[in-house]
Amino acid sequence: MLAASGLADLHTHTFRCGHARGHEEDYVRQAIALGLSVVAVTDHIPFYWLPPEAHDPTLAMAPEQLPAYVDSVLALKEKYRGTIEVLLGIEADYVEGHEARLAEILQSYPFDVVLGSVHWLDGFWVDAPSSQKLYEQGPAKVEAIWGAYWQKLEKAIRSQLFDVMAHLDLPKKFGFFPERPLADLESRVIAALTATGTAVEVSTAGRRKPVGEDYPSPSLLERLVAAGVPLVLSSDAHAPEEVGFGFSEVIPRLSRLGVNEVFYFRRRQPVTLRLPCE
Ligand SMILES: [Zn+2]
Ligand SMILES: [Zn+2]
Repeated sequence: MLAASGLADLHTHTFRCGHARGHEEDYVRQAIALGLSVVAVTDHIPFYWLPPEAHDPTLAMAPEQLPAYVDSVLALKEKYRGTIEVLLGIEADYVEGHEARLAEILQSYPFDVVLGSVHWLDGFWVDAPSSQKLYEQGPAKVEAIWGAYWQKLEKAIRSQLFDVMAHLDLPKKFGFFPERPLADLESRVIAALTATGTAVEVSTAGRRKPVGEDYPSPSLLERLVAAGVPLVLSSDAHAPEEVGFGFSEVIPRLSRLGVNEVFYFRRRQPVTLRLPCE
């Protein structure tokens, strides 16, 4: 396996998704200013599972915008070669029943890294502000959402369409947790990750949300590390100044768990990245 040293931010968005700010080059420049060695641009994939009229310009780029996005990131990869490694990435929603269409899109472009997300859960968004009222219906609803989420996530991982699973415990965003831990479902997810060699992001985005903690939670992260699941670092930046957000606190946290290397992906192959010593 290839190896390198330095830090990589594997998850950033751009103005193209309609709810982030800044051009992809602003993110690359910010990553250089922070001294990162790698930055992935991973904007949201167009809504490939819905009819074209369902496109929402505040949630993702339109299908016809995808080629220009790819061209722009590939141009930056060349422009900054030797200064920073720019990765062509995408954050792709998993939607059961639409795997073939997603595979077709992913094969059409030379992606370095594909982040997998479960945002869409049979009719509603797990994390949209408009969904908070569902969690507020009470513990039974909260447990039902979490249960459905873990089961869908396991299917997403087993689809093997993704290199990295994003924000693994996303339903916690608004601060709602099941009353009893759904340990069996979590175990099934971890088994799927190890069986497929899929990585998980340690994302600092949760700190900017009501829950106020990284994805995954400390106890889940410990279980992932114990199972040997590969990890990547991510800010899920939606503004250029969020690149590398909180990394200086995450790295010592990982060191305490005995993690001294993380990963990034080049043309969908893992590269190890030794973490800087404290
Ligand atoms: Zn977003
Ligand atoms: Zn996401």
